[in-house]
Amino acid sequence: MSQIKIPILDLKPQYLAIKDEIQLAINQVLESGQFILGPTVQAFETSAAAYLGVKHAIGVNSGTDALLIGLRALGVGPGDEVITTPFSFFATAESISMVGAKPVFVDIRPDTFNIDPDLIEAAITSKTRAIMPVHLYGNPAAMAQIMQIAAKHDLKVIEDCAQAFGGIYKGDCSGCEQSCDDGIRDRILGKYTGTIGDIGAFSFFPTKNLGAYGDGGLITTNDDHIAETARMLRVHGAKERYKNLMLGYNSRLDAMQAAILQVKLRHIDTWNSKRRWVAQTYSQLLAAVDGLITPTLSEGHVFHQYTVRILGGKRDLTKQTLADAGIGAMIYYPIPQDKLPVYLGQYPDLSVNNQLSQEVLSLPMWPELSLEQLKYVTTHLKQALPQ
Ligand SMILES: *Cc1c(COP(=O)(O)O)cnc(C)c1O
Repeated sequence: MSQIKIPILDLKPQYLAIKDEIQLAINQVLESGQFILGPTVQAFETSAAAYLGVKHAIGVNSGTDALLIGLRALGVGPGDEVITTPFSFFATAESISMVGAKPVFVDIRPDTFNIDPDLIEAAITSKTRAIMPVHLYGNPAAMAQIMQIAAKHDLKVIEDCAQAFGGIYKGDCSGCEQSCDDGIRDRILGKYTGTIGDIGAFSFFPTKNLGAYGDGGLITTNDDHIAETARMLRVHGAKERYKNLMLGYNSRLDAMQAAILQVKLRHIDTWNSKRRWVAQTYSQLLAAVDGLITPTLSEGHVFHQYTVRILGGKRDLTKQTLADAGIGAMIYYPIPQDKLPVYLGQYPDLSVNNQLSQEVLSLPMWPELSLEQLKYVTTHLKQALPQ
């Protein structure tokens, strides 16, 4: 194993750039003596809601809990079905299973890696209660079509925004066969991911675009009733302390993470635009390379990951060759959710999903990557591919 020169992600340059701001914010929390929820968390919730343009933002323990509490607040439970993408981190389907509902997986599109809106309606049954799109790798899902289908069939929409803080829906639905309701499309065009459906669920896991220095998550909604229920669910189902109304969770954002996130929120636009620059530069350096497909540079994409497809069964070999050159390329995700051991034998094959899980390779991605580093990665990647 050679020395790692360019890891998949390096969080240190970002920390060094904001070190003074972070330490000041942490010291203020330490001196305040209030560590769970409280004014620091409220201040961050207010800032996040204002940034996103949504009425309510509710801090919770993790992105997984944001999905779980979000589903509970929508009233999804045993006997219900939730339509989602198989091509995601397991927390997506796990949250659905954890509330007692059944994840129903719909195949993805090869150009967006996201749920294929043309296939959703065929998966709807009398038990379907909600659709959970994931904005994978930071690329907004086909929300106009999804919102239209949801309205037609009276379904709720809960967006998994764990990889897409700052992502904007720009109406990119190239190739989709659905005719779109102009009213719905116009209403959501230009909105941030997580503010379009009934609920948005964000993760502040350190590696995400907006990452804390520990676990954290956020629920967003414009619905007062959903917000009130979610606020109760995060504190053991109580509105007033010791008057518990329902079975909830201990799932609160802590003040230290909120203070860190408050600092980082000030920089998120800069970081996301640097990510877009990294993605555009990768795509230029990799243009017209045989055996590889670069991702669509759709507008509003915030590139949590820059993920290429390596064709011809060469993905694993390519990953190893890069590793030998000290480049940390990663596979997100090697096993799609529907094929995980926990669901073994329960779901039929989905062809695009299966194929992409064999082809995807995510290249090093963080805002401070330099042109020199990108050239190093792409030069080695080209050499690894048989020309
Ligand atoms: C990270 C992630 C989650 C879970 O977030 P945690 O904060 O780690 O619980 C959910 N969905 C997706 C798509 C993710 O990438």
